[in-house]
Amino acid sequence: MVVGEVPEPVDLLVVGAGPGGYVAAVRAAELGRRVVVVDREGVEGGPGGACLRVGCIPSKALIELAHAYETTRTAARAGLRVAGAEVDLGTFQGRRREIVEKLGGGVGGLFERHKIRYVAGELTFSRPDRAAVALADGNSSFLEFKQAIVATGSRPFELPTLPVDGERVLTSTGALALEEVPATMAIVGGGYIGLEIGTYMAKLGTKVTVLEAMPRLLATYDQDVANLVGRSLKKRNVNVLTSALAKGVKEKGGQLVVEAEVEGKTQQINFPTIPDQKLNTKGIELKATSTAGVPVYYYVKEGPAALNGNRLTLTKIPPRAKFPVKVTVVAWQYGSSVEPKLQTAEPVERSFYLVK
Ligand SMILES: Cc1cc2nc3c(=O)[nH]c(=O)nc-3n(C[C@H](O)[C@H](O)[C@H](O)COP(=O)(O)OP(=O)(O)OC[C@H]3O[C@@H](n4cnc5c(N)ncnc54)[C@H](O)[C@@H]3O)c2cc1C
Repeated sequence: MVVGEVPEPVDLLVVGAGPGGYVAAVRAAELGRRVVVVDREGVEGGPGGACLRVGCIPSKALIELAHAYETTRTAARAGLRVAGAEVDLGTFQGRRREIVEKLGGGVGGLFERHKIRYVAGELTFSRPDRAAVALADGNSSFLEFKQAIVATGSRPFELPTLPVDGERVLTSTGALALEEVPATMAIVGGGYIGLEIGTYMAKLGTKVTVLEAMPRLLATYDQDVANLVGRSLKKRNVNVLTSALAKGVKEKGGQLVVEAEVEGKTQQINFPTIPDQKLNTKGIELKATSTAGVPVYYYVKEGPAALNGNRLTLTKIPPRAKFPVKVTVVAWQYGSSVEPKLQTAEPVERSFYLVK
């Protein structure tokens, strides 16, 4: 015990303001207890726990975004046309902060209504009936409690063989914080968190590979549920490897390579960028700008493409390209490709979007 500490007496101390902690705190207050809730997330983080900040809520928001994006592409044949739909995860992160703030404020309001005191700070027990809280301003406060509920939750598990660097090897928290849609992604673990992330990333255009050490996905769930999820992943071209134990990760020629034991055999799984692709020029209407007998010239204004006559071919897509990749072609008549300034008609600009 620190000399001079004056502990605040409380009936019930709740450590952790996640769904476990805040629901218990509210119920105890309803039953007439004097409750203090402590959570190490600062005042800015607010109550709500991992679920609100780095779990259920941001992942559901991303699922909704990915679903909307996928619909813009898949509902075209039903008559919904959305030209040039783009995903901007940077904007999403701003929206996510707003949602977290609003819902965290809702939990804070619940505390106020039930006269629950919320203390932001890291708690350690100093005696069976006392605890110290290290506050953000460097001071400490002390609590003497009759009963305590420890609802400190969990954090992403880090495998010693796959050290998280926060940039290319991420935890689920890092995946939720991405500001750009990566071209490829390996997900180690075919549980519900990994598959949720894998599904929405695939919908956003990432080529996803899932490695699951058990013989099947969602090992703790019913087989029927796992089958349903497996079919949905297949539909989105997710590469699922079961009985696949990820053993390490290394960089080779700018690419990440995951070493895994798949069904007892060691495999190196590359996460290549999308190989050179050819755009199907049919329907692109490059020729539609042509007037009989008058030459039409084109140039690629933007994007990884080259023109060979009227044929548009994609060149190599950069490893960490943001999908959809935009290609803009400008066409003009009169003048020449060497002297475009001589043109007498306005150039026509066309953009195409390559999605995955
Ligand atoms: C990506 C993802 C998606 C998820 N999706 C869903 C979903 O759709 N549905 C669902 O039901 N669940 C989902 N979950 C799981 C859900 O987030 C957890 O089950 C839930 O958060 C557990 O609640 P909790 O209150 O036990 O702990 P937490 O929410 O983890 O809260 C614990 C709190 O304790 C605090 N704490 C820890 N130690 C201390 C200390 N010493 N001093 C002070 N404070 C401390 C932490 O800062 C934290 O705020 C998801 C999880 C993840 C990662």
